[in-house]
Amino acid sequence: MPQPNFIDKLYAALPPTGRTALDALIGAARERSLALYAVGGCVRDLLLDRPTLDIDLTLEGDAPALARAAAAGLPDVRCTVHPAFGTATLKDSGFRIDAASARAESYKRPGALPTVRPGSLRDDLRRRDFTVNAMAIALTGDHPGAIIDPFNAAADLDAGLLRVLHEASFRDDATRILRGTRYEARLGFHFEPQTLRWLRRDARYLETISGRRLRDELLRALHEPQPERVLLRLDRLGALAAIHPSLAFDESRTAAFARLRERHQGPPATACLALLAWGLAPPEAAALAGRLSLTRREAEAVRAAPDARALLPALSKDLPPSRLVDMLSPLPLACLWALAAAAEGLPADRALHYLRRWRHVRPLLDGRALMAMGVTPGPRLGEALRRLQAAKLDGEVRTRGDEETLARQLLSRLKAANTARPRSSSGIEG
Ligand code: ATP
Repeated sequence: MPQPNFIDKLYAALPPTGRTALDALIGAARERSLALYAVGGCVRDLLLDRPTLDIDLTLEGDAPALARAAAAGLPDVRCTVHPAFGTATLKDSGFRIDAASARAESYKRPGALPTVRPGSLRDDLRRRDFTVNAMAIALTGDHPGAIIDPFNAAADLDAGLLRVLHEASFRDDATRILRGTRYEARLGFHFEPQTLRWLRRDARYLETISGRRLRDELLRALHEPQPERVLLRLDRLGALAAIHPSLAFDESRTAAFARLRERHQGPPATACLALLAWGLAPPEAAALAGRLSLTRREAEAVRAAPDARALLPALSKDLPPSRLVDMLSPLPLACLWALAAAAEGLPADRALHYLRRWRHVRPLLDGRALMAMGVTPGPRLGEALRRLQAAKLDGEVRTRGDEETLARQLLSRLKAANTARPRSSSGIEG
């Protein structure tokens, strides 16, 4: 049944350059009498009347060649092709269209990357994670705009159900467990009962997934508006423990994620990772960072989480700001955001004060000014700057004049110490 309205909706989801690119792709496919379809998440979102960001197309034919032909007339659009994978991307800063040659997939063993061969649209839909992601809209042919729905996904969309396409789905690729929990949290959907039974049975196959793929899926979950809902669900399904035995999440931790969003708009995923690792002991945090093949910066934040947690009691003590800055400044920034979110009351205020103000405090006198007063470059210069900064943090100096007075006192003390130990290098001239 032709429903051209869906093609209109697809165009409406794109900015003007994106529409031109889609036009060019459809035109090129028509010229070559090739069947081109919109597939996957964008079809699901269009049918749910949700905004869709990226558009995925499937071509029964050579997608890289089609993308090249379409892009030839579009100087402002970037075209990237991966002929070995049969994929291509057209994009600019405001849109992204991925085109792929239709393919069939099979799995040699659980968790392996699939073996791929050219296939039909139906093959291409059959390899997908859930029925609601396995629909297509025809963009060419006799019925442009027709919905192709071989697995009766329309009923699942209506009922808000996530249903796998076959019993071995989670065993083949257990990242689908993380994908499904993300859709549950985002769309308010639920796993269909049989799918849920298979999921619980096969959660252990998460062990077969490489660290990098787990990391990528976990980060996508952490970018959801409420990642704590995904994490809580993953914990209850036994999936977190299957990712790493020390990994756990419960209701008491959800508030910290909400606080992180309150305290840092669009919090960095690295801070979420540190918060996920919050309860771990140092060896467990290090093992988790290794299991997830985290980037250096992410691994640093996760490994520092236990150190940050250990600071909590000290943050309640009556300490001057300079001491607090000394304690907090060695930790990675993302980890400090996790600390500010995990803490409440005075420790939270202090961590936030550090993040928002104290860490930016600098004395008015810089290295050059101190050198003009007689300090030679070297460790003593750094020490003098630190003393000035501490005095400023603690409110002992306010004006440039105050700082100069303090600097002179420091200099004379250093000179006196130098006279007492004449053979050591003082770094002070004159
Ligand atoms: P999102 O809305 O989060 O971007 P999406 O549904 O667009 O999600 P993508 O990760 O962009 O998902 O993948 C595009 C499509 O590819 C999915 O809709 C799904 O049909 C298919 N897909 C992606 N990953 C898998 C997987 N691991 N197993 C099966 N199908 C997958």
